[in-house]
Amino acid sequence: ADLPVDELIASIAVDVPDFPEPGVVFRDLTPVFADAGAFRRVVDALTEPADVDPRAAALSGGGPGFDVVAGVEARGFLLAAAVALDAGTGVVPVRKAGKLPRETVSAEYALEYGTATLELHTDSIRPGQRVLLVDDVLATGGTLQAAIALIEQLGGVVTAVAVVIELAALGGRQRIAPHPVHALWTT
Ligand code: AMP
Repeated sequence: ADLPVDELIASIAVDVPDFPEPGVVFRDLTPVFADAGAFRRVVDALTEPADVDPRAAALSGGGPGFDVVAGVEARGFLLAAAVALDAGTGVVPVRKAGKLPRETVSAEYALEYGTATLELHTDSIRPGQRVLLVDDVLATGGTLQAAIALIEQLGGVVTAVAVVIELAALGGRQRIAPHPVHALWTT
Protein backbone atom coordinates (compact mmCIF):
# COMPACT_ATOMS: atom_id res chain seq x y z
CA ALA A 1 0.00 0.00 0.00
CA ASP A 2 1.03 3.61 -0.47
CA LEU A 3 2.70 5.35 2.45
CA PRO A 4 0.85 8.39 3.81
CA VAL A 5 2.29 11.45 2.10
CA ASP A 6 3.95 12.77 5.29
CA GLU A 7 5.76 9.47 5.81
CA LEU A 8 6.72 9.37 2.15
CA ILE A 9 8.27 12.86 2.36
CA ALA A 10 9.99 12.06 5.66
CA SER A 11 11.49 8.92 4.15
CA ILE A 12 12.98 10.70 1.11
CA ALA A 13 13.85 14.26 2.25
CA VAL A 14 17.38 14.64 3.58
CA ASP A 15 18.28 16.60 6.73
CA VAL A 16 21.49 18.56 6.29
CA PRO A 17 22.91 19.77 9.62
CA ASP A 18 24.64 23.17 9.77
CA PHE A 19 23.53 24.36 6.32
CA PRO A 20 23.62 27.16 5.26
CA GLU A 21 25.05 28.08 8.66
CA PRO A 22 25.85 26.41 12.00
CA GLY A 23 22.78 25.42 14.01
CA VAL A 24 20.34 25.23 11.08
CA VAL A 25 19.06 21.83 9.94
CA PHE A 26 18.30 22.29 6.25
CA ARG A 27 15.43 20.13 4.92
CA ASP A 28 16.57 19.17 1.44
CA LEU A 29 13.60 18.26 -0.73
CA THR A 30 15.51 17.82 -4.00
CA PRO A 31 15.41 13.98 -3.69
CA VAL A 32 11.61 14.20 -3.33
CA PHE A 33 11.35 16.29 -6.50
CA ALA A 34 13.68 13.89 -8.33
CA ASP A 35 11.53 10.84 -7.50
CA ALA A 36 8.71 10.56 -10.06
CA GLY A 37 6.24 8.84 -7.75
CA ALA A 38 6.95 11.08 -4.76
CA PHE A 39 6.79 14.25 -6.88
CA ARG A 40 3.41 13.19 -8.25
CA ARG A 41 2.05 12.50 -4.74
CA VAL A 42 3.36 15.81 -3.42
CA VAL A 43 1.94 17.84 -6.31
CA ASP A 44 -1.45 16.13 -6.03
CA ALA A 45 -1.53 16.74 -2.26
CA LEU A 46 -0.55 20.40 -2.63
CA THR A 47 -3.41 20.89 -5.10
CA GLU A 48 -5.91 19.64 -2.52
CA PRO A 49 -6.55 22.64 -0.22
CA ALA A 50 -8.99 23.81 -2.83
CA ASP A 51 -11.17 20.87 -1.93
CA VAL A 52 -10.51 20.47 1.78
CA ASP A 53 -10.22 24.00 3.13
CA PRO A 54 -13.66 25.26 4.18
CA ARG A 55 -12.78 28.89 3.43
CA ALA A 56 -11.53 28.02 -0.04
CA ALA A 57 -14.45 25.69 -0.67
CA ALA A 58 -16.95 28.37 0.36
CA LEU A 59 -15.36 30.85 -2.03
CA SER A 60 -15.19 28.38 -4.88
CA GLY A 61 -18.78 27.17 -4.91
CA GLY A 62 -17.56 23.65 -5.56
CA GLY A 63 -14.91 24.20 -8.27
CA PRO A 64 -11.18 24.38 -7.60
CA GLY A 65 -10.71 26.88 -4.78
CA PHE A 66 -8.27 29.09 -6.66
CA ASP A 67 -7.89 30.81 -10.02
CA VAL A 68 -4.11 31.00 -10.12
CA VAL A 69 -1.09 29.53 -8.31
CA ALA A 70 1.72 31.75 -7.01
CA GLY A 71 5.13 30.23 -6.27
CA VAL A 72 8.00 31.73 -4.26
CA GLU A 73 11.49 31.79 -5.80
CA ALA A 74 13.19 29.45 -6.21
CA ARG A 75 12.07 26.05 -4.90
CA GLY A 76 8.46 27.21 -4.85
CA PHE A 77 8.65 27.56 -8.64
CA LEU A 78 9.23 23.83 -9.11
CA LEU A 79 6.07 23.06 -7.18
CA ALA A 80 3.81 25.92 -8.26
CA ALA A 81 4.14 25.21 -11.98
CA ALA A 82 3.31 21.54 -11.48
CA VAL A 83 0.35 22.32 -9.22
CA ALA A 84 -0.99 24.87 -11.71
CA LEU A 85 -0.75 22.42 -14.59
CA ASP A 86 -2.48 19.80 -12.43
CA ALA A 87 -5.29 22.18 -11.48
CA GLY A 88 -5.67 23.74 -14.90
CA THR A 89 -4.69 27.26 -13.83
CA GLY A 90 -1.86 29.64 -14.67
CA VAL A 91 1.19 30.24 -12.49
CA VAL A 92 2.68 33.51 -11.21
CA PRO A 93 6.24 33.93 -9.92
CA VAL A 94 6.97 35.82 -6.67
CA ARG A 95 10.60 36.81 -7.22
CA LYS A 96 13.61 38.18 -5.40
CA ALA A 97 14.34 41.86 -5.97
CA GLY A 98 15.47 42.99 -9.41
CA LYS A 99 14.45 39.93 -11.46
CA LEU A 100 11.07 40.97 -12.87
CA PRO A 101 11.36 43.27 -15.91
CA ARG A 102 8.19 45.36 -15.66
CA GLU A 103 6.33 47.36 -13.00
CA THR A 104 6.25 45.56 -9.66
CA VAL A 105 5.01 45.85 -6.11
CA SER A 106 7.64 44.95 -3.53
CA ALA A 107 7.77 43.94 0.13
CA GLU A 108 10.79 43.90 2.39
CA TYR A 109 10.97 41.31 5.14
CA ALA A 110 13.36 40.42 7.94
CA LEU A 111 15.78 37.52 7.69
CA GLU A 112 17.83 36.20 10.58
CA TYR A 113 20.61 38.49 9.38
CA GLY A 114 19.43 41.56 7.47
CA THR A 115 16.48 41.86 5.11
CA ALA A 116 15.30 40.59 1.74
CA THR A 117 12.79 41.88 -0.80
CA LEU A 118 10.17 40.02 -2.81
CA GLU A 119 8.46 41.39 -5.93
CA LEU A 120 5.39 40.66 -8.00
CA HIS A 121 4.40 42.12 -11.39
CA THR A 122 1.51 44.52 -10.76
CA ASP A 123 -0.54 42.98 -13.57
CA SER A 124 0.05 39.36 -12.51
CA ILE A 125 -2.93 39.22 -10.11
CA ARG A 126 -6.31 40.80 -10.82
CA PRO A 127 -8.55 42.15 -8.03
CA GLY A 128 -10.69 39.36 -6.61
CA GLN A 129 -8.60 36.57 -8.07
CA ARG A 130 -8.27 33.61 -5.70
CA VAL A 131 -4.67 32.60 -5.20
CA LEU A 132 -3.09 29.37 -3.96
CA LEU A 133 0.35 30.35 -2.63
CA VAL A 134 2.98 27.58 -2.72
CA ASP A 135 6.46 27.16 -1.24
CA ASP A 136 8.60 24.23 -0.17
CA VAL A 137 9.23 24.94 3.53
CA LEU A 138 7.34 27.09 6.06
CA ALA A 139 9.88 28.15 8.71
CA THR A 140 9.33 31.50 10.48
CA GLY A 141 6.73 32.49 7.91
CA GLY A 142 8.41 35.78 7.05
CA THR A 143 8.78 34.89 3.37
CA LEU A 144 5.19 33.76 2.90
CA GLN A 145 3.90 36.71 4.93
CA ALA A 146 5.65 39.08 2.51
CA ALA A 147 4.27 37.16 -0.49
CA ILE A 148 0.74 37.37 0.96
CA ALA A 149 1.13 41.12 1.46
CA LEU A 150 2.04 41.55 -2.22
CA ILE A 151 -0.86 39.45 -3.49
CA GLU A 152 -3.30 41.33 -1.24
CA GLN A 153 -1.86 44.68 -2.30
CA LEU A 154 -2.97 43.79 -5.83
CA GLY A 155 -6.44 42.81 -4.60
CA GLY A 156 -5.87 39.06 -4.74
CA VAL A 157 -7.47 36.72 -2.21
CA VAL A 158 -5.10 34.10 -0.76
CA THR A 159 -7.45 31.16 -0.28
CA ALA A 160 -4.73 28.84 0.97
CA VAL A 161 -1.00 28.57 1.57
CA ALA A 162 0.39 25.14 0.66
CA VAL A 163 3.82 23.88 1.73
CA VAL A 164 5.56 20.52 1.68
CA ILE A 165 7.14 20.90 5.13
CA GLU A 166 6.05 23.03 8.10
CA LEU A 167 8.64 23.49 10.85
CA ALA A 168 6.07 23.92 13.61
CA ALA A 169 8.40 25.12 16.35
CA LEU A 170 9.19 28.28 14.38
CA GLY A 171 5.60 29.54 14.54
CA GLY A 172 5.09 30.27 10.85
CA ARG A 173 1.47 29.16 10.90
CA GLN A 174 0.63 31.67 13.65
CA ARG A 175 2.43 34.41 11.76
CA ILE A 176 0.41 33.78 8.62
CA ALA A 177 -2.96 33.42 10.41
CA PRO A 178 -5.79 33.71 9.58
CA HIS A 179 -4.66 32.43 6.19
CA PRO A 180 -5.05 28.64 6.25
CA VAL A 181 -1.81 26.65 5.91
CA HIS A 182 -2.00 23.26 4.21
CA ALA A 183 1.22 21.44 5.16
CA LEU A 184 1.92 17.94 3.84
CA TRP A 185 4.34 17.18 6.68
CA THR A 186 4.37 19.11 9.96
CA THR A 187 7.46 18.41 12.04
P1 AMP B 1 10.84 31.60 6.50
O1 AMP B 1 10.70 32.96 5.84
O2 AMP B 1 11.61 31.66 7.77
O3 AMP B 1 9.52 30.90 6.68
O4 AMP B 1 11.72 30.73 5.54
C1 AMP B 1 11.13 30.18 4.47
C2 AMP B 1 12.07 30.08 3.30
O5 AMP B 1 13.40 29.70 3.65
C3 AMP B 1 11.53 29.02 2.43
O6 AMP B 1 11.51 29.50 1.09
C4 AMP B 1 12.46 27.84 2.58
O7 AMP B 1 12.83 27.34 1.33
C5 AMP B 1 13.67 28.36 3.30
N1 AMP B 1 13.98 27.64 4.55
C6 AMP B 1 13.93 28.15 5.81
N2 AMP B 1 14.32 27.26 6.71
C7 AMP B 1 14.60 26.13 6.04
C8 AMP B 1 15.06 24.83 6.42
N3 AMP B 1 15.31 24.49 7.69
N4 AMP B 1 15.23 23.91 5.44
C9 AMP B 1 14.98 24.23 4.15
N5 AMP B 1 14.58 25.42 3.74
C10 AMP B 1 14.38 26.38 4.66
